[in-house]
Amino acid sequence: MKKILFATSECIPFIKTGGLADVAGTLPKNFNKENYEAAVILPYYTFIPQEYRNKFEYVHHFYMDYGKRKGNFHVGIMKYEMDGIKYYFVDNEYYFGGDKPYSDAKFDIERFTFFCKAVLAIMPVINFKPDIIHCHDWQAALIPVFLKSLYADNPFYFGTKTVMTIHNLRFQGIWDIKTFEYNTDLPGYMFTPDKLEFKKDANMLKGGLVYADYITTVSNTYAAEIQEPFYGEGLDGLLRARNQSLCGIINGIDYNFYNPALDEQIFFKYDSTNAMQGKSINKQELQRELGLPVDKNKFMLAIVSRLTDQKGLDLVNWVIDKIIDDNTQLVVLGTGEERYENTFRYYQSAHTDKVSASIYFNEQRAHKIYAAADAILIPSKFEPCGLTQLIALKYGTVPIVRETGGLKDTIAPYNEYYNTGNGFSFANYNADEMLGIINYAKHVYYDMKKGWYDLMLRGMECDFSWNNSAREYEKLYDKILGW
Ligand code: ADP
Repeated sequence: MKKILFATSECIPFIKTGGLADVAGTLPKNFNKENYEAAVILPYYTFIPQEYRNKFEYVHHFYMDYGKRKGNFHVGIMKYEMDGIKYYFVDNEYYFGGDKPYSDAKFDIERFTFFCKAVLAIMPVINFKPDIIHCHDWQAALIPVFLKSLYADNPFYFGTKTVMTIHNLRFQGIWDIKTFEYNTDLPGYMFTPDKLEFKKDANMLKGGLVYADYITTVSNTYAAEIQEPFYGEGLDGLLRARNQSLCGIINGIDYNFYNPALDEQIFFKYDSTNAMQGKSINKQELQRELGLPVDKNKFMLAIVSRLTDQKGLDLVNWVIDKIIDDNTQLVVLGTGEERYENTFRYYQSAHTDKVSASIYFNEQRAHKIYAAADAILIPSKFEPCGLTQLIALKYGTVPIVRETGGLKDTIAPYNEYYNTGNGFSFANYNADEMLGIINYAKHVYYDMKKGWYDLMLRGMECDFSWNNSAREYEKLYDKILGW
């Protein structure tokens, strides 16, 4: 039996701000339970919903030194078991209180450094000796660093290997070296450009990428892209150097949660046998709820996204007037940068019959939109994997995407001559090119109804469950461990 420990800052159903939470919450459940025992460890945030916290079980607590700080720090361990997976929570109210998982960058770095150290201190206490520690994003990236320095001679961890998964290379955890030395108590020689130093500062993710036994990211195309300067966020040289220990494994989604045939959050359940009727009912109900004209013949184009630069929203800003013609309704759900939030708010107030902007995070609204919309727009500048296009496919909502990262690996463009593909795509980061593809999609929708229907059905039949990807992770763990 191989023991796999996931170290993460987010995990559904406890805490989610993005796709990382979906992955950490669903992948461990999909391992073959006869050969792999998976556990997950994350911070015990005080804002985890009370319904779960009530069920957590206190395991133990102890005191730990932390960097060059004086005195010992409280580390509590809480536990919860669900669907055969053990979830451990690191309790320290000073670091994981508050009302959101990320806030001030400097303090975030301090608390996730504490988290990494605590994870390694906890395992011997609960006697869970991991064969693999699978670290997710910068928040867990110091674990491989500590394992190969502070814990190098600790027999408990002999044979333990690490995998570092990049869900988004843009976020790295960078601060000045002095602060890092104080937080970590690592020796000065580790803060050099071949290890933790990055442009005169220290970089947590870089540490993970240098010290982990293997690096993965969440699609093949992104694995190749991040070795180029344009997508490499300053780490492309290091990633090229580690190219032999780097691969892409596409994320899956949980079809028990994202499935129009089972979804309790949508107006009307449907599957591929009644998709046209099902989507039409969902569309009209959503139009009613959003205050848009109720008309099943309007082309409903959705955006469900963090409203940030990464997601290609400047392209949308450029041509939004041309997107919202008389036959189109644009439905937006998202939060993020103020300039994008305000643009969509403005367009909603100026075009109440064509634009709806829900500027907040709401899981149920997201499900209703996936069920109602005809197409979803994802014009990302970069996209490590992307889950929204995978969810949309399952709901018969046709993705219109830019060909980058996981979007390129999962969406094959519609070919009207051979009647193939599961979406629409454009290559260059260019607003006119995007508009051209949106207009082509509208043309197919209105003038080639059979083509559109087939496109929807092919999308609904795609299998992006965890089945395939979980097997790839298992193979990777076996390869790293050599058994
Ligand atoms: P990222 O992790 O970069 O934000 P992904 O496509 O990997 O992007 O995952 C986004 C996830 O968050 C999807 O499950 C999507 O439905 C959800 N999501 C994004 N914005 C919202 C929102 N405002 N309300 C509800 N769900 C949202």
